[in-house]
Amino acid sequence: MRRALAELDRSAGLRLLRVSSFYVTEPWGGVPQADFYNLAAAVATTLAPRELLAVCQRAEDRLGRRRDGPRWGPREIDIDILLLGDIVWHDESLTIPHPFLTERAFVLTPLREIAPDLRLPGGELVAGLEGTGRARKLNYP
Ligand code: ATP
Ligand code: CA
Ligand code: CA
Repeated sequence: MRRALAELDRSAGLRLLRVSSFYVTEPWGGVPQADFYNLAAAVATTLAPRELLAVCQRAEDRLGRRRDGPRWGPREIDIDILLLGDIVWHDESLTIPHPFLTERAFVLTPLREIAPDLRLPGGELVAGLEGTGRARKLNYP
């Protein structure tokens, strides 16, 4: 995850602003597997939505992600776009806000840590959402 953050930070048109703690969370999506590790990061970017997705996927590729397993199964790394300012976007390869954002404690908990005042494009306060599951903060330097 640290390498993923470093990859993103050195991408053109993108700078890392803020990173949450690491969280250990129960796996989500029904595939039996080990716990997930998650974090949320805030970035400043001049990239358009599809360009930002390409940067995230290139960083995943550079960290050795293979794309042959089941959806929601174990993976080397997963970098998703959660929100992008007030932009609402939907096409065949990209949906913003992330479609499961409001349902996942493993997303909402780290997001609340770095952005307590963050709102969805519709105005709803992200910190007011609960989602399902549990995210346990790691005491890790
Ligand atoms: P989930 O979307 O439930 O978190 P996932 O991250 O495991 O699932 P992936 O296999 O990593 O799913 O990605 C599947 C596709 O989702 C990607 O190829 C990408 O085109 C698409 N996608 C749609 N919206 C987004 C988004 N907001 N961020 C990242 N990928 C997205
Ligand atoms: Ca994901
Ligand atoms: Ca993904």
